[in-house]
Amino acid sequence: MSTFKIAIDGPAGAGKSTIAKSAAKELGFVYIDTGAMYRAIGLAAIRAGVDPDKDIQAVEKLLPDIKVDISHSKSGQLVFLNGEDVSTEIRLPDVSVAASDVSRIPAVRSKLLDLQRSIAEKTDVIMDGRDIGTVVLPDAQLKIFLTASVEERAMRRYRELCEKGIECNFDEVKKDMAYRDKNDSERDIAPLKPADDSIIVDTTGKTLEESVDMLLNIMKERREV
Ligand code: C5P
Repeated sequence: MSTFKIAIDGPAGAGKSTIAKSAAKELGFVYIDTGAMYRAIGLAAIRAGVDPDKDIQAVEKLLPDIKVDISHSKSGQLVFLNGEDVSTEIRLPDVSVAASDVSRIPAVRSKLLDLQRSIAEKTDVIMDGRDIGTVVLPDAQLKIFLTASVEERAMRRYRELCEKGIECNFDEVKKDMAYRDKNDSERDIAPLKPADDSIIVDTTGKTLEESVDMLLNIMKERREV
């Protein structure tokens, strides 16, 4: 029997991961955060002293020695880089930017595409990212494109980082977000854009609970069709 796949795409800070996580729990689906996989490769580049914005070849050289795995724990998805749990370290602001830079490299995308598709073949998933509805799971039964104003997304991300005790300032967070929006939308390969058959949901001015409720209704309806 084929699995049920829900794709959630959208820019950073639109609420994808928080909403997808709680919806997956409610529906009994596995939640897959594909951004974490790009972050793991961004982290590997930083650790190797490679600037992924400038030196694509150096990133490509690193790839055969990079193994990214994910697993699930009670507290959510864990990400491993060559066997090391890097789930916390990949959230640092520098890694966000490096993730966006490595994600423009075709060899990086094809390495992660196989991993992402193989997971979705085995189990019902809610997978979030930038190209899930357009490239990774074009046959997903439901595609959602989640967005919000850049100001509000930056404020959400800033609060999230503060809560985790990660030092940052709002203007920097907003600047990084605008950089990533531009990078992710304008790249040649798998750019951030809604699939033709996706439902576009704007969460500006909505609380998290309101957004989760709205999306859960859409998901439950689609599942029954
Ligand atoms: O979702 P998150 O903000 O953690 O993603 C980090 C970066 O990884 C994004 O800015 C984007 O460049 C890249 N990414 C991607 N395709 C995905 C998921 C993330 O290019 N499916």
